[in-house]
Amino acid sequence: MENLKLAKKKSPQDKTVITVGDLKIGQDLIVIAGPCSVESEEQTVETAIGVKNAGANMLRGGAFKPRTSPYAFQGLGLEGLKILEKAKKVTGLPIVTEVVDPRDVSWVAEYADVLQIGARNMQNFSLLKEVGRVKKPVLLKRGMYSTLAEWLNCAEYILAEGNPNVMLCERGIRTFETFTRNTLDLSMVPAIRTQTHLPVFVDPSHGTGRKELIESMIYAAISAGTDGLIVEVHINPEEAKSDAQQQFTPAEFLTIMKKARKLDEFVKDVINCEA
Ligand code: PEP
Ligand code: MN
Repeated sequence: MENLKLAKKKSPQDKTVITVGDLKIGQDLIVIAGPCSVESEEQTVETAIGVKNAGANMLRGGAFKPRTSPYAFQGLGLEGLKILEKAKKVTGLPIVTEVVDPRDVSWVAEYADVLQIGARNMQNFSLLKEVGRVKKPVLLKRGMYSTLAEWLNCAEYILAEGNPNVMLCERGIRTFETFTRNTLDLSMVPAIRTQTHLPVFVDPSHGTGRKELIESMIYAAISAGTDGLIVEVHINPEEAKSDAQQQFTPAEFLTIMKKARKLDEFVKDVINCEA
């Protein structure tokens, strides 16, 4: 980590705030929500309206899906990006979407407000350099076998190309445990804060892969001091073309969001009070 020039925290107060529209990422709790994949205009726009009504700040949705099997749904590509554009027009929510190929970065950036680098691509250095050359903020997910130092070095690749707007996202790592899809490493939130000024997000959907566990992990992530959350929501989770077992309905998400916002206020009060 001695090699980190730009990602490294310079002082205890050193904290980056990234602006997207009127959102201040790194200052207020930012919730990104939406479907795993963009499947159709109706599915995406209806989900977008649902998450907006629940108080989400940005819309997520994959148009390029990195799937384990080459025969699984790979995403709608350009058509998916156009659907996200429509959902943004309807709701006003900025778009967070994944880019998987360095050749696609410049044109995907025309649709995305935040470019997501998925766990499987965390160390795809040519992709990191390419997103470093565009102006859009980048959400860099932690690779499923990656250490804190490897992850921050990947952020450094993006920063070194001239893009200062990098946010990190803990999404669980692979361990011997198989009950959960991944092991959500919430200790990484305070741990990485000791090393970097960059905002840190938590993805409890991929972090657990089990719907019944996500709500608790949302509250736990807020208590651990996360800057934001990314949560999968689908109008009809059972019919989802990817990650059906970990997506909330908009109604379920609304109930959780009300509690999450209250908890965020409470946690901030506790942290700021002089005990
Ligand atoms: C996703 O957010 O859609 C995704 C594929 O997540 P991850 O890269 O964390 O597996
Ligand atoms: Mn997913």
